[in-house]
Amino acid sequence: MESDIKSLSLEELTQELAACGEKAFRAKQMYEWMHVKLARDFSEMTNLSKELREQCGSRYRYTALEAVRVQESKIDGTKKYLFKLSDGNMVESVWMRYRHGNSVCISSQVGCRMGCRFCASTLDGLERNLLPSEMLDQIYAITKLTGERVSNVVVMGTGEPLDNYENLLKFIRMLTDENGLHISQRNVTVSTCGIVPRMRQLAKERLQITLALSLHAVTDEKRRQLMPIANQYSIGELMEACRYYFEETGRRITFEYSLVGGVNDTDKDAERLGALAAPLGCHVNLIPVNPIKERDFVQSEAARIRAFKDKLEKKQINVTIRREMGRDIDGACGQLRRNYKNT
Ligand code: SAH
Repeated sequence: MESDIKSLSLEELTQELAACGEKAFRAKQMYEWMHVKLARDFSEMTNLSKELREQCGSRYRYTALEAVRVQESKIDGTKKYLFKLSDGNMVESVWMRYRHGNSVCISSQVGCRMGCRFCASTLDGLERNLLPSEMLDQIYAITKLTGERVSNVVVMGTGEPLDNYENLLKFIRMLTDENGLHISQRNVTVSTCGIVPRMRQLAKERLQITLALSLHAVTDEKRRQLMPIANQYSIGELMEACRYYFEETGRRITFEYSLVGGVNDTDKDAERLGALAAPLGCHVNLIPVNPIKERDFVQSEAARIRAFKDKLEKKQINVTIRREMGRDIDGACGQLRRNYKNT
């Protein structure tokens, strides 16, 4: 396969072009076309010679996404995009407008092999990893389509980002690079189901991103019922990895906790969750489970959710209930892609 030019860092691009006798400033111009001006192909790069553009066109692959479906929420303006990749695979991304700026939720893989019971993205397994360029492209395409700057990026769409580690890291470095969109690392969140060795590896990268851990249960037994990954790593090991991450980076972890009616939403669960979060100063994000038709999980009652939150707050835990953005537009991970594939 030809190499993927939009996944090259500025340094790598400079080296590549130097090998064909091009000066460093040409690489910088081209990088700017790809990562700041968000060109869809080489032909847009009008300050570069036609020869150079043609040479690159025959030597490199230039990824671009095509929006095949866009759904806009009538409730809150959230937009969900279904994008077609160059090989015909589909990924979904979500654009949300908040008071503090626009946030995009991106996918890191086509499908997922983690098998979490309540999640629609994993029902057909993993198809393939996304390239760094294909993760960037989701943000670039949405920036162009909305005409608005993106200030926050969350890697919480389809896929397990730490199962695509090298590409994820390259993506984060390029997204936050001053020669690209230059999004602040503090405005990037990576959500993981808890692959312990990768969490430890990530801690050593010394990034200023936020790590979110999908915890969803406070005993190993219950967590194993919801998430197969819990068969590999215990909650004890996860907490150790969280402590290590916090110590290495100084960044507090977020615990994500999907509330499933009658499964993990008792006062006792809240108490245990508080006991896990308190020593690490974790923020807890409660997500009322988004029921998918393939499973019979139901949301907790509104009063139960409030009681759960109160219990945590009494322990001085910082808690938010995730606003259900885009509830009317196939909100749950992977639903849009599945619905499209199956029609
Ligand atoms: N693989 C990563 C990121 C993708 S999922 C992870 O596990 O964190 C993003 C978040 O949405 C995770 O916390 C996941 O557990 C949660 N999630 C997935 N499907 C859901 C559903 N139907 N209802 C509520 N939360 C869900």
